[in-house]
Amino acid sequence: MYKPLIYLVIFFALISCTSKQQVDLIVTNANIYTVDENFSKAEAFAITNGKFISVGNSREIESKFKSELIINFEGKTIVPGLIDAHCHFYGLGLYMQKVDLTGTSSYSEVIKKIKSFQKEENSDFITGRGWDQNDWKIKEYPTKDKLDKLFPKIPVAVKRIDGHALLANQAALDLAGIDKNTEVNGGEIIKKDGKITGVLIDNAMALVTNIIPAESKKVSIQALKNAEKYCFNLGLTTVDDAGLDKETIDLIDSLQQIGELKMRIYAMVSANEKNLEYYLKYGIFKSDRLNVRSFKVYADGALGSRGAILKKPYSDRENHYGAMVTPIDALGKIAKLIAASDFQMNTHAIGDSANSFILKSYAKVLKSQTNRRWRIEHAQVLDQDDFDYFTEIIPSIQPTHATSDMYWAEERLGSERIKGAYAYKKLLDINGKVALGTDFPVEKVNPMLTFYASVSRKDLDGFPDNGFETENGLSREETLKGMTIWAAYSNFEENEKGSIENGKFADFIVLDKDIMTISIDDVPNINVLGTYLNGEKVN
Ligand SMILES: [Zn+2]
Repeated sequence: MYKPLIYLVIFFALISCTSKQQVDLIVTNANIYTVDENFSKAEAFAITNGKFISVGNSREIESKFKSELIINFEGKTIVPGLIDAHCHFYGLGLYMQKVDLTGTSSYSEVIKKIKSFQKEENSDFITGRGWDQNDWKIKEYPTKDKLDKLFPKIPVAVKRIDGHALLANQAALDLAGIDKNTEVNGGEIIKKDGKITGVLIDNAMALVTNIIPAESKKVSIQALKNAEKYCFNLGLTTVDDAGLDKETIDLIDSLQQIGELKMRIYAMVSANEKNLEYYLKYGIFKSDRLNVRSFKVYADGALGSRGAILKKPYSDRENHYGAMVTPIDALGKIAKLIAASDFQMNTHAIGDSANSFILKSYAKVLKSQTNRRWRIEHAQVLDQDDFDYFTEIIPSIQPTHATSDMYWAEERLGSERIKGAYAYKKLLDINGKVALGTDFPVEKVNPMLTFYASVSRKDLDGFPDNGFETENGLSREETLKGMTIWAAYSNFEENEKGSIENGKFADFIVLDKDIMTISIDDVPNINVLGTYLNGEKVN
């Protein structure tokens, strides 16, 4: 009596076996954080044509799909490919070919590094970046004297870690035509005892950087490739490059089209006159790997170099307010132009005065427009009265800035203002989303350090014991969302990436430890075992 039923079961088993759908890749037995709406977990997924087509448990996926390539991850953790919502990807690649001064602990070490770089490279214009006087015993800006002695004829121009101050030698100053009478709006030529020291702040830097010979195409291509390799190894599958010119964007597009560059790039266009004119005329450009739909604007400088503009003077420098690097009427005009287009406006604002001005300008030009997703990059120091503007404006923030700046930020700001600084949790509570990034090469590229800083609010030595302003730390879930789905949202890309869900690009990474459950102190040591973009292993 049961026989027909048994035959039927066997029949269907055979049918389903032969009718299994062929896919490009099946992943099973993994510990998957999908970062979907419910932050649900899964064990397996199937990928075809570069997209997830089914996510579920291993038995389910194996019963429905077949593939030449099935990977059993034996319980390893998988999260969506990570997005860095604010970085300088191309800049990183360029600096990888220049003198690297990060981590130097004295000015003599800086000099030593420049000397040995030049011995190898024999460059006719020495450039590089990474020095930080706050890391030195004598926390003062350097002077160019030693560089002048070493390089009387070869120009040298090396940027501070934040990219908002530059040390130039006399040969570079001469070429740029800078002397003691030169004046600059929105910048500073630092002097000591009436003499030029060689340190230039914000807009003053442009006098020198404008005369640095342009990169050759070969160097540019190498830069993009080097940066890509570096970022893939650390688990990034999308980078938001905060400020690119048309030439670089065109180069990226051409390399992506021939498969020479695979990284997905959200290119923020530098909002100079030429770029504005071109892109506002031709409109948004979007491919699977490149999205050009935003402008990057600079309001002020950085806090470390006291270029960020504050409503009240710096607590550690009398009568000093910092400066706007773009005049306010120009900023207003740019905002109005962009508001009338489909483009997003992403403005660098660090000081409370810059943030206040930009937030109000945004509100003024956007009026009742919704879903424009305009961003403030950094949103670092905020007046308590201005937080509420972030209901409509996306905070694009960098958790490692908090733990890099915490040693001296209060000296700059005082005990009251510091309460509105690096206030990430408060920003999240107001907007409902935050986009997380690093600003690399200002900070290290490694996204695990972002995760660690965001949750623990400590440096890598575990300082301070109880964390820095821990009320503004984010939970692990919030942090992971900020590095994936919310960052995608800030790019208008939440329907194609940022989570492991059907129909989205198969971008994911495999970790050697469970980032959501291991001790937070171990997070910086997590290794990325594999980075997959479009279902293809890229590292
Ligand atoms: Zn930046």
